[in-house]
Amino acid sequence: MTETIAPPTEDLFRADAYQTEAGAVVLAVTETEKGIEILLDRTLFYPTGGGQPGDTGVIVSPSGAETRIMDTRKGSHPNAIVHHTDVAPAFSVGDAVTLRLDWPRRHRLMRMHTCLHLLSSVIPAGVTGGQVNEDKGRLDFDIGELVLDKDAIESQLNTLIAADHRVGQRWITDAELEENPGLVKTMSVQPPRGAGRVRLIDIPGVDLQPCGGTHVARTSEIGPVRVDKIENKGKRNRRVVLAFVEA
Ligand SMILES: [Zn+2]
Repeated sequence: MTETIAPPTEDLFRADAYQTEAGAVVLAVTETEKGIEILLDRTLFYPTGGGQPGDTGVIVSPSGAETRIMDTRKGSHPNAIVHHTDVAPAFSVGDAVTLRLDWPRRHRLMRMHTCLHLLSSVIPAGVTGGQVNEDKGRLDFDIGELVLDKDAIESQLNTLIAADHRVGQRWITDAELEENPGLVKTMSVQPPRGAGRVRLIDIPGVDLQPCGGTHVARTSEIGPVRVDKIENKGKRNRRVVLAFVEA
């Protein structure tokens, strides 16, 4: 099978994580053994990465027919974003379409992702892994000699959430990141270097770390959370699982 050379996709979700609808042009529709892959010139859909799942939603054709997007992933070209569906698309290459995000799901992912950044500021240990989900999120820590107190972590987290801290972003150069290795909390996942610049998620006075994910604008938007459990993952490693308090 020949590999499709994918052009880069303009990502709209980094500039504005709250945009739920946008226009785009269809560049390619490719049938693969795993389903149908759609390439657009620009997208609102976040591709799986950095522990955050890919977005779902619909692509609306010029006649108003909806094609369900089940998943979004990075393509073989580093800056290409691939939309996955298992139905024949109601549009063709060259069509101007409308993208509509499954916003309730994405918003929960944003809330949990920002909450995990807060968690990493509450526990002073290296992060060895993590995963954001709609209802829960987890970080794995290399705690060394540290003893984790479930109730204390929960209370500190909810205090940070309720304090309504601003969540911002800024970009630094690869060289600036090299000079500040302390910015990188994840021991297993290093931020992508080589693109010339790295995006930082900045919760002033609370947390600063490289991240490509989507985040809420203020911590109060996360809402109350609980520490669901702390799992023992070996002598030095603990998995801290968070859940939203609401159902
Ligand atoms: Zn992140």
